[in-house]
Amino acid sequence: MARIVMKFGGTSMAGIERIRSVAARIKREWEAGNEVAVVVSAMAGETDRLVNFCREASSLYDPREYDVVVSSGEQVTSGLLAIALQAIGVPARSWLGWQLPIRTSDGHGSARIGEIDTTALSASMADRTVAVIPGFQGLAPGERVTTLGRGGSDTSAVAMAAAMKADRCDIYTDVDGVYTTDPRIVPRARKLKRVTYEEMLELASVGAKVLQTRSVGLAMKENVRVQVLSSFVDEDGNSEPGTLIVGEEEIGDMERQLITGIAHDKNEAKITLTNVPDKPGAVASIFSPLADAGINVDMIVQNVAHATGTAPKSTDVTFTVPTADLARSLDVLEKSREAIGFDAALHDPRVAKISVVGVGMRSHAGVASKMFTTLGERGINVQAITTSEIKVSVLIHEDETELAVRVLHTAYGLDAEEPATA
Ligand code: ASP
Ligand code: MG
Repeated sequence: MARIVMKFGGTSMAGIERIRSVAARIKREWEAGNEVAVVVSAMAGETDRLVNFCREASSLYDPREYDVVVSSGEQVTSGLLAIALQAIGVPARSWLGWQLPIRTSDGHGSARIGEIDTTALSASMADRTVAVIPGFQGLAPGERVTTLGRGGSDTSAVAMAAAMKADRCDIYTDVDGVYTTDPRIVPRARKLKRVTYEEMLELASVGAKVLQTRSVGLAMKENVRVQVLSSFVDEDGNSEPGTLIVGEEEIGDMERQLITGIAHDKNEAKITLTNVPDKPGAVASIFSPLADAGINVDMIVQNVAHATGTAPKSTDVTFTVPTADLARSLDVLEKSREAIGFDAALHDPRVAKISVVGVGMRSHAGVASKMFTTLGERGINVQAITTSEIKVSVLIHEDETELAVRVLHTAYGLDAEEPATA
């Protein structure tokens, strides 16, 4: 007997037929004697629809009311799933975020989960009743409804699994696992059997959008074993084995690869400030106002300072910001032009960040040089570089994304023998 949290995404909830098949799957776990709690998303497309209603009602909507509106999609699916379970003889009831309650911060629209009261859930399990919990929602200190940010029901599920000390958190989604890279770019991408929390965080934050990034951080902190599974099943009602996200100690030496995956991200834009005076405090004068404006700077390159004639030494500083924040960033920089003292703010949204990720690189040298050589041989120019202990990222021209991902996938020996058929 195991204690399992099962989470179903919007595609699995899109319509009564699919909700019935989800109920059948839950029934099998329940009949096997497991303790089961379920977290659900809204029907696919529903949250977008609700968000649009708010925007239409007023561009300056009250975020507390936005949360009341957008959290409702999950209320509907949790009730429907409880009905579908009861209809096939499985005792079930829904528990809305405020009823448990799931305590959160008051950051409306992207609240953070705090305490979860598990009294009702424990009683429900003891009684063999399946608790169905709407994801994405919680309750702020002022007793107002909150939501956790788009994609937040993954985080609800992991938080629930942590609070209930579940043996597993199974996340059913419309992809069947985590791949070495985007299979649409590289048909020979392989599905990973296991990936560490840290690798998953790097892969998720650089563009492999399987789970909400926050859910992976939470799973790592709380040591929750997360399994990503396909919600599409064979005739026996089984889905193919997915990907297990676990701690590094659970990955055997045999399975350990130098590089686990390659991610790409086109959502960054490059800014270069020319002729920034080379003096103490110069860099702070650039990045402090951006940070104050809530803009996340990612890659940073400061060129070697040079002096022309008798003018004081100056340098060019290049960095990236999210493409969506480009206009705002330029505005912030313009307002600080005097304090920073730059000449021009050049910008280019047509860049892509390519990252190779793997815990194996902790103990191996040469990963970065292989990346640069491989790209260089294909004439791909590297505009900026950043590294962490388990990741090397480069910035290249957007048009070269697919080529770069393909050649790197081959260079690090990640290609499968056969292309995936799916
Ligand atoms: N329904 C919410 C969304 O679409 C939360 C989720 O599905 O994870 O963002
Ligand atoms: Mg999702």
